[in-house]
Parts: sequence; C-alpha cells; structure tokens
Amino acid sequence: MKILIINSGSSSIKFQLMDMPSETLICSGLVERIGHEDAILNYKTKNVNLQKVEVIRSHKQGLHKIVDVLLDADQGVIANTDEIEVVGHRVVHGGNSFSNTTLITTEVKTKIQEYAALAPLHNPGNLEGILVAEEFFARAKQIAVFDTAFHQTIPEKAKKYAIPNTLYEDHGIQVYGFHGTSHQYVSEKAITHLKLQASKIITIHLGNGCSMAAVVDGRSIDTSLGFTPSNGLIMGTRSGDIDHAIIFHLVNNLNFTLDEVNTMLTKESGMLGLTGRMDLRDIEANAEKGDRNCILALTMNAYRVKKYIGAYVAVMNGLDAIVFTAGIGENSSNIRKLVCEDLNVFGIELDKTRNEMKSNELREINTTSSKVKILVIPTNEELEIAKQAFELVS
Ligand code: ADP
Repeated sequence: MKILIINSGSSSIKFQLMDMPSETLICSGLVERIGHEDAILNYKTKNVNLQKVEVIRSHKQGLHKIVDVLLDADQGVIANTDEIEVVGHRVVHGGNSFSNTTLITTEVKTKIQEYAALAPLHNPGNLEGILVAEEFFARAKQIAVFDTAFHQTIPEKAKKYAIPNTLYEDHGIQVYGFHGTSHQYVSEKAITHLKLQASKIITIHLGNGCSMAAVVDGRSIDTSLGFTPSNGLIMGTRSGDIDHAIIFHLVNNLNFTLDEVNTMLTKESGMLGLTGRMDLRDIEANAEKGDRNCILALTMNAYRVKKYIGAYVAVMNGLDAIVFTAGIGENSSNIRKLVCEDLNVFGIELDKTRNEMKSNELREINTTSSKVKILVIPTNEELEIAKQAFELVS
C-alpha cells in the first residue's frame, strides 16, 4: 500500500511516499518558501536528486508541483494519483479531542480549525495541506496524526497549571505537549531494543524545537512543552522556561508591546538570543574558538536538560534509559557529553569513545557498568505517521 505522508507547515510542505507495511521509502521531498517568487522544490528518489527554484504562491500550487513530479514520465514514481491509497497528515495541535490517529472527516477539520487558536503557527498550514490533498487525492483516505496525541496520557497532576480551575475546565488551558510522534517512535524503539517488560524512559528530542518526555511503560506521563511549544528547554529561537512576570515588566516598564514580547520570546531568544546564531553547528564551532557567549549558551542548554532529567527520575522513581534524538540529539556528541557528565548519582555513565562515534543507526553510548542505558535513536516522524496510518486503515 502506497502512503503519502504530508507535513504541511506555514510556508513549506515536506512529503514522503512510502510503501507499507514493507516501510520502503519510494521518494521524499520538500517545497520551501511557499508564497515567494523563489520557492524551492526538492525531490529525491533512488535515482533522482532534483532541486528547482520556481514561483510557488500557495499550498495548492505547492502540492500541484509535488503531484506533477510524482507523476513525471522520467522522474516520477506513480502513473496515477489513485495509486496512493492513504495520505497521512502531521497535525500539530489536536487539543483534548484526539488521543489517537484519526480518519479525517468534516468534524475533524472543524476541530483542527478550532485548535488553530492554540497553535497559530502550525494548525492553519496543516489544515491547508489536508484541504488541498483532498482535492488532488480524492480517492485516498486522509488520516491525521497529532503531535499532541501521545501526551494525552499525562495525568491531571502534571497537566494542570495552578491557575483558576475555570481556565482549565472552560478554556482548555493545560499542558498538551508536542513532538509526540517523535517521543512515541523513539521510546518504542528503545523498549524493543532493550527488551524491557516494564520501563521508565526519558526521551530527549533536541532539534530546532526541543522537548523531553517521561515515558512509563510506553505512555507519556510528563513533558516539557506545555500549552504551546514554548516552555521547557532552551531551543533554537525560543527561550523555554522563564519567569512569566518578565513579560509584564517588559510591557509595563520597558515599553514593549505584547506582539514584540511574543516575537522576542519565540523568534529572537533561545540559542539565537544568547549567541546571535541558531544553528548549533555554528555555535559549537565558535565555542571551539573560545567565544564565551557560545560556551556559556551550550552549558546553559545542557544544564536545562539535566534539570528535567532530575525531575523526571524523581516523578518516575527510577530510570532504565535516556534517549537522545533529532538533529542535535543525534549529532552533537558535545551536548550529549555536557548533559550526561556528573549524573552518576542516577547511574548514568557516558562512554566517551562510543559517544564520539558517528552513525545513523540506533546505538548505545553508555559504559558497560552504567546502570542506565544511554541511547541515540534517529527519529523518523514520517515513518511513525505511515505506521499509524497503515494500522488505522488495515
Ligand atoms: P527541526 O526541529 O527543524 O526538525 P532538526 O531535528 O532537523 O530540527 O534539528 C536541527 C538542529 O540540529 C539545528 O540546530 C542543527 O544545528 C542541529 N544539527 C544538525 N546536524 C548537526 C551536527 N552534525 N552537529 C550539531 N548539531 C547539528
């Protein structure tokens, strides 16, 4: 069965075509800078590696380009759009309505629209992708996989904020959590790899967005992102945890508008705010050259992760494994080292040589005497979406 996975963002559409259940990747690609004269279409198959700069004004036009290249006589991989039986969509916010992967109906689309108020940067683009895909792949089943779904198991004591109850009960103000597809994928891989019956795992997703989850027996019981994808860890451009009274001080005493504070906290903070750079590779290179801001930012970044590890060991009352994943977690041996050093109190002992090994495979980087396993597991949100969509339709 051919499943097309679409991750439609505000100005981009990532896609992968997979054959299931064999999990064979047929092609993948990305349309970036939608709305610009110089949008870019990237497309890869076993034999093709294409990059085209074109005018792409809308998601509809973007998906049209994707369909054209999929059907192309020379470079394409299908003869007819009907060959695609399922389209799996990544949807960021499913609120409290979706704890599972769902067949998309009119009601589901209405809910995704409603939750756009909670994820204004993500849900509108996700919905646009669904509407356009319904037109182009009219015979396919459209399935939504929600970033928030995996965290629906978080108990009330962890998901409620200590603010008046009515805000929780009447307005849904609570922890929702994000990156659920990734936390689910890597925690399942860890459980299978370690052959655990009962399990206590901390998953650490460090990409441009960063989050951690405490996962007990395969179920999320706490996570570091909350009502929106802004709190918790230090991210590429987002501050993570701050004292919210800073916002009032900026507005009341330093003449910021609320929009300016919002932009500052989500687009100009995090590693960018601390160093002037958001790409961790640049920050690490500058730290090597002795740049003090970069050295301190890396230390702060790892320190925040450490604090959440401590918190999650406490709430789980134990730990079998920690898992590093996503761009930084999979590639930065330096961040992994900074996070893991001096954690032997929890039985976490990093093997320095294994940590430095480069690989795209699941690997153990703990010492042989470490009580806790330290794993690096490449995440694959698209494969997880394909698996969940396949399970639902079959
Ligand atoms: P997204 O959240 O956009 O999916 P990714 O998971 O792709 O992000 O992660 C992007 C981050 O990974 C960037 O900050 C980038 O610098 C970092 N990264 C990628 N490769 C490396 C590497 N080899 N060493 C250090 N950091 C890396």
